[in-house]
Order: sequence, then C-alpha cells, then structure tokens
Amino acid sequence: MSRIARVELFHVEIPLDEPFHPSWIPGYPQTQNRMTLIRLTTDDGIVGVSAGTAFEREREGLGSLLGPYLIGADATNLSEIRQRLTEASFLGWHNWWIEPAFWDIRGKLEGKPVYRLINPEIGPVERVPVYASTGSVRPIPERLAYLDRIRDMGITAVKLRVHSFDEREDLAIVEAARRHLGSGFTIAVDANQGWRVALIDDAPLWDLERATRFARAIEPLEVAWLEEPLEMHDYEGLAQLRKSTTTPIAGGELLSGWHDVRTAFERGSLDLYQPYAMFCGGLETSRRVLAQCRIEGLSFSPHTWTNGIGLLVNLHAFAAHPERHVLEYPFEPPGWTPAGRDGILAQPIEVAPDGTIAVPQEPGLGIHLDERALARHGHRFFRMTKASLAIHTIRTKGLRTALDLKRRKDRRGSGPTS
Ligand SMILES: [Mg+2]
Repeated sequence: MSRIARVELFHVEIPLDEPFHPSWIPGYPQTQNRMTLIRLTTDDGIVGVSAGTAFEREREGLGSLLGPYLIGADATNLSEIRQRLTEASFLGWHNWWIEPAFWDIRGKLEGKPVYRLINPEIGPVERVPVYASTGSVRPIPERLAYLDRIRDMGITAVKLRVHSFDEREDLAIVEAARRHLGSGFTIAVDANQGWRVALIDDAPLWDLERATRFARAIEPLEVAWLEEPLEMHDYEGLAQLRKSTTTPIAGGELLSGWHDVRTAFERGSLDLYQPYAMFCGGLETSRRVLAQCRIEGLSFSPHTWTNGIGLLVNLHAFAAHPERHVLEYPFEPPGWTPAGRDGILAQPIEVAPDGTIAVPQEPGLGIHLDERALARHGHRFFRMTKASLAIHTIRTKGLRTALDLKRRKDRRGSGPTS
C-alpha cells in the first residue's frame, strides 16, 4: 500500500510574452499564466503531480484544509481519495484538480500510462490529432493570418470564438474563415455562454432565440460544432436547440461532476461532451462520460484550456477513446503560446508537421517538471508531512487525543486525521 507522506502546494505565475485577451473575460488582459501546483509523495517515493488554474493566490490557505485529508491516505484507493476530496468540498472548495495526481501515482505503480488505466482495453495510442483553439475575438484580417499560420503547421481544424453584441459580427468571422479555408478544413465555434463572465466589460448574453438563429445561420458553413451557446445548466434549452438545428451542440467543460453531466445525458442536451477533468469531477468523471458517450453514440473531446498540465491530463482522457477525432490545442499567439502555456514543463507540447501531439507512453501522466522553471516561476507556500501533521495535531488537540486519533486512523487504514 502506498500512503501519502508529503503534500506540497505551489503558486505558479508564468509571465506571458504579450498580454492575452480571453474572449470569455471581455476587457481583461491576462499577463500571467497562474496555477496552483500540487506535488504528492508517497511513503514509497512515488510522486504524483497535478495543477489547477488560478486567478490570483486564492488558494493560499487551502493546504491547512486539504493536508490532513490527504496525509496518510492510501494513494491507490481512488474511491477513498474521491470521498476525501468530496468531504473537503463541503466547506466550499471544489478541488477536483487534485484528483489526477492520484491517477499519476497509480499509473506509476502499475507501470501504465494513465489513458490505459482509463480504458484498459485500448491499445497503444502514440499521437492524437489536434484542433487549434483560439482564445480571443480578433479582427478578421488577423484571424485569417492565424488560419494561414496553423495550416502551415499541419493543423486541419480550428475553433473560433464569437463574443460580440452584434450577431452579424459573430457570423462574419465564421463566414470569412470558411471562405478563406475552403471545404475540408474543420471549423468549430465557441460562444462561451456556458459560464458567462462580465467582470470588466459587459459580455453578450445569448438566449434560446439568438442561439437558434446563429446555429441555423452557420449550417451552410458546415461547422463541426457550436460550443456553449447557452448557460451550462440550461439543459432544456440546449436540448431544444439541438432539435432545431443540424449544427452539433457541444459543452460541459465546467459542469461540476457526474451528477451535472448525467442530467445533460438524460435531457439530451449535447452532441459533443467536453468535460475538463480539473473542473468536472476529476478523471474518474471523464471516464464515466466517455463510457456514456460510447453507449449513446455521442462525441467526446475534453476541454483542455488552462495550462500545459491541464492539456496533458485531458489528453489521457481523450486518448482513451477508441473513436477519437480532434483534441483542443490552446494556441493564440502572441499572448498564449506553448512557452507561456507550458512554462514549467521540461518540454513544451508542440504540434508535429502532421497536426498531431504525442501521447505520453510512460507510466503515469508523463508530466515532467522543469525544476529550474518551477523555482523561477513558482513559490512553495505549503508543505505537510506525517511528522508535521502529528505535531500540529498534538498542538491543537493535545497529546492524548492525538494518539487516540492516530490509533483510529491506523485501524481504519485510511482517512482524515484531525
Ligand atoms: Mg469552451
């Protein structure tokens, strides 16, 4: 049995070469790629890594909550771990971004890449094709230059963003792209209505009528999917939209777990499911969504946008799918580049001339941190070991209670300790 012996948390802030303007936060210039990194070490020396995107240093106090839930836990018992993360969420924090670190550990212990744990029946998957995922709404001439660039990179699929108050501008972007690319190039469109943010500038708000108008207007443009045309929990609206257009409807990146996604299946809300493991219930939920998509003959391609670790984790979920098509490759230079996106990885994830990226074949998730880059861009703000937790428990509960808690924990084999 491998037990968690050390928990470390880092704030990571990778500066971007140029400000990046995400379509989903109108008016916001993103100047850094921020995340919280977790590194778990077991008592037999296995290391598991994952990361959750961050806005600032909002997880500053998270370790004191999570550490006692994780120290001493059996790292291979995923259902117990998921129960611990669920218990820790009752106070308000959702931390599914941590769960993939346990898959990393399990893969290393079993000697298998994570995608083969997610789907034990799948054979080796060396590479997967990607679509270039834009992140900004740009003037049409700039967007056309981008399309030339990705075509030169060997990529044959793109996802455009539409986020204008003027519906004609949304349509004009897609029309111009199709005209420029001709047929045979896959075009998808993301309206970013699933979890609307109007923090700085106001953001357009679609209703079913607007979504239906747009979905129908792009039918002749052979759009592969329209993503998040309505608020993510508007299951009925999405289902109705799906019935009123031949344009496939996609979504689900920020649904908060299996119960949310199951409702989407039950109502028939989506053609393409895009659970993002870090937000949507961890890789176990991705596995369940993938299985349900296969049963219902629906498409599955996880959201990957946040950082290089998010891309790698969700790449494993995608590679586990035998009928995979294209995976999201976040790319919006000069602001959002492989260097800024993957700045703490030993190697940025690059697209080969055939439009594919490599699937890690080694045991675990295949995340290799560049320790020097982590030292430069990261700051370890929390570290807990079995010993430091014991001292903390003695200080706060007294020696007798601390010993009693330890006895109970040892008897159970796994569980919270304070
Ligand atoms: Mg999206």
